[in-house]
Amino acid sequence: MIENPVPWPGGARCAAAITFDIDMDSFLHLEYGDRVPDMVCTTSWLRYDEIAVPRILRIYREFDLRQTFFFPAWCMEQHPAMVELILEDGHEIGHHGYLHENPNQLSREDELYWLQRATEVVNRMTGSKPFGYRAPVYNFSRHTADLLAAEGFLYDATLMANDVPYVIKCESGTLIEIPSHWALDDWPQFAHNIELEYTMTVRSPDEAFAVYEAEFDAAYRHGGLWVAVWHPWHVGRLARADRLVQFIRKVKSMDDVWFATTREIAEHVSRCVDDGSYDPTVVNLPYYTGPIPHDQRPVQIK
Ligand SMILES: [Zn+2]
Repeated sequence: MIENPVPWPGGARCAAAITFDIDMDSFLHLEYGDRVPDMVCTTSWLRYDEIAVPRILRIYREFDLRQTFFFPAWCMEQHPAMVELILEDGHEIGHHGYLHENPNQLSREDELYWLQRATEVVNRMTGSKPFGYRAPVYNFSRHTADLLAAEGFLYDATLMANDVPYVIKCESGTLIEIPSHWALDDWPQFAHNIELEYTMTVRSPDEAFAVYEAEFDAAYRHGGLWVAVWHPWHVGRLARADRLVQFIRKVKSMDDVWFATTREIAEHVSRCVDDGSYDPTVVNLPYYTGPIPHDQRPVQIK
């Protein structure tokens, strides 16, 4: 099924990474502004991260797992103790914007400003520049890849154009892409909040994990990559956290799955590209820099 599987470390059949985006209530502020002080229930729904993140960290500790957390830098500043907890256990913190701003609604100049502002926070609070980036709400702009390459990022974990890691080429250099897709996201399964106008039918933990495990089983069969894009306030809720433990137990009992951080996966892929053991797909970005040329004749209406 996969034309060019990655030679995973230790002969593993596939690589797996659980990534949690710790957004808290960051994204409310730019979108709802003055209304936020009266959005108390929604804020509390999102602040469940304060319960869920320590819970997820305890689960990871039990299974001796090190994983990646993408964090809007404003949330890091608001919750330094949580950052400390994550770092103490050796997890990776990736860049996820400053206040969860939408890159594709910003000018190139403003996108760079927020990118650098958040990088400065990650650098100050973790002692290292971020290696990886995920665009808030997947809203990757025509400039994002180029800015990331210019700012020295190793990888991005936003895009969806392959089953396995690939290389993004842009004017300022290259990036490793660690792709995922909507079937591995938790919004479609659990996001029900009338105030935010998300009214998805809430799935049971088993129904949601049936989707995630179908993806995992296929990645395992075909030598692919499985990257979950989850949020603590969805998957960290009690019943789902129980189901998460069951899933991790299953994967950890298989000795040929490489559970790693997205940074470790990107570094491995980068080494394999350099030594010629992996021939990745190369995608030139941006796909477009403006509207495609098209026929200007008016459509005839009968
Ligand atoms: Zn987010």
